[in-house]
Amino acid sequence: MYFLTEEERKRLLKGLIPKSRQNEVNEDLRGWNWHRPPLEPLYDVKLALYEVASRYCPTGRDLFLRRVHKVKPPPNKAMVLGSVFHDTLVTIMVRAKKLIYEKGVAGYQEIVQALREPDLAPLERYRASLGDEGFEEAMRRCRIIWEFEAARIIARIQEYLAKQPHIGEDSLVSLAIPVVVEQKLDGSFLGLSANLSADAFTFSEPMVLDLKFGERRPFHRLTTAGYALVMEALHEYPINVGCLIYAEFREDRLVISKDFHLIDDEVRQWFIEERDEKMRMIAEEIDPGRADDCHPACPYHATCWPSDGRSPGPRPRRPGP
Ligand code: SF4
Repeated sequence: MYFLTEEERKRLLKGLIPKSRQNEVNEDLRGWNWHRPPLEPLYDVKLALYEVASRYCPTGRDLFLRRVHKVKPPPNKAMVLGSVFHDTLVTIMVRAKKLIYEKGVAGYQEIVQALREPDLAPLERYRASLGDEGFEEAMRRCRIIWEFEAARIIARIQEYLAKQPHIGEDSLVSLAIPVVVEQKLDGSFLGLSANLSADAFTFSEPMVLDLKFGERRPFHRLTTAGYALVMEALHEYPINVGCLIYAEFREDRLVISKDFHLIDDEVRQWFIEERDEKMRMIAEEIDPGRADDCHPACPYHATCWPSDGRSPGPRPRRPGP
């Protein structure tokens, strides 16, 4: 899923990348300027990147309850499934790299054979949260993801072996699988957690990728913007492009669409405003109040909308002007 098709690559190289070079990002909004406004954090509160970028709760009360009142409900089913599918993808990418290093270029047939057999044992830990039936259904879908991704990785390995007869293992890994999954990043310069984990980063063109199993939401671009800012702060090179990958199951098929976008001033500014507003909410313990249109699957629903007439928590104290 993280690999680009030839058509996507062309569109990126002829469209978004030249555009990103023309579209100058305001220097103040580059991550390497984390030590001065507007990037400099105003509060001594560390946030996870998803806490800044998530707007599933329209008022942000989920964050208030978690961080101020320490309410920690279990994740809902969609969240657990998202983790299961992400882990499947991480497992196959890491397995493919390991196999290349272990078997070597000469062990190509063994690599192909091993990649065709899904290794879902590490996902057993999700059985308790999904129940036996839910878990078996999740595994059926994980096998679909595995087959999809294995076919692409094998094709890429074959392509580079055919083109480069003297290629070594390290070079084969970097060419055939040019993606770092679960990239660990320290976001503390920007007031974020020191243990962030980006879904994927590709170094063929510096681009942050984020995978979603759910419907498109405009605020998803906050995630790629946040990781781009963190990488700029850490490595001092510009990240101008993000890609959100949306995966959806239709019967036994996996349907994938991609949202390539510029990490421009607007989305950078939006990320910083979200960060500042949420930091303030936590530091000053401001209850943003309940939303009007809460989804019943929200993990905090029972806290915000108690059915036994209990108070839904402290009275909302709206932020001042
Ligand atoms: S129940 Fe509503 S207000 Fe409460 S956290 Fe969920 S979405 Fe937000």
